[in-house]
Amino acid sequence: MSIARFWRETPQRYNLGGSKCSDCSTVYFPPRSVCPNCSSHRRSIGRMVPFQLSGDGEVFSYTIVHEAAEGFDMQVPYVLALVKTVEGPMLTGQVVDIETGEIRIGLPVRAMFRKLREEGKAGVIHYGYKFAPREEDRAPDTPPGQRDVARAATPDAERGPTTA
Ligand SMILES: [Zn+2]
Repeated sequence: MSIARFWRETPQRYNLGGSKCSDCSTVYFPPRSVCPNCSSHRRSIGRMVPFQLSGDGEVFSYTIVHEAAEGFDMQVPYVLALVKTVEGPMLTGQVVDIETGEIRIGLPVRAMFRKLREEGKAGVIHYGYKFAPREEDRAPDTPPGQRDVARAATPDAERGPTTA
């Protein structure tokens, strides 16, 4: 499977495209066609609309992994976190650009797109999201509430998908 095909077939995987219930406004990622939150599931049928997650969130919980999984080209130890997005859905992913000692619950992070792994001789490269601390939040004196959380995640231009 070519890289371009992989991207075409899994668009929601790299652009954080979810869905939103126009009845109760609950956001889902991955997208759902029916809203389990609505009292009547039937009511939400046809009322789910595409919704783009911003990629912003904060660390809800985390674990520090000391052994790399086979096929994953990553340095150990690394941080794996459960991230609560500002829109609500929980995402799991590696947190990069951070020392393991810096990770904490509540740390503001932003999704970015990175190479996840390469498969064997074919060299198929899978991309996906990882998280990095939001730069504007790194300064220790930044007062909460003055953060720019509206900026949407943009694919890493260098390593992200360039094929259409
Ligand atoms: Zn709903």
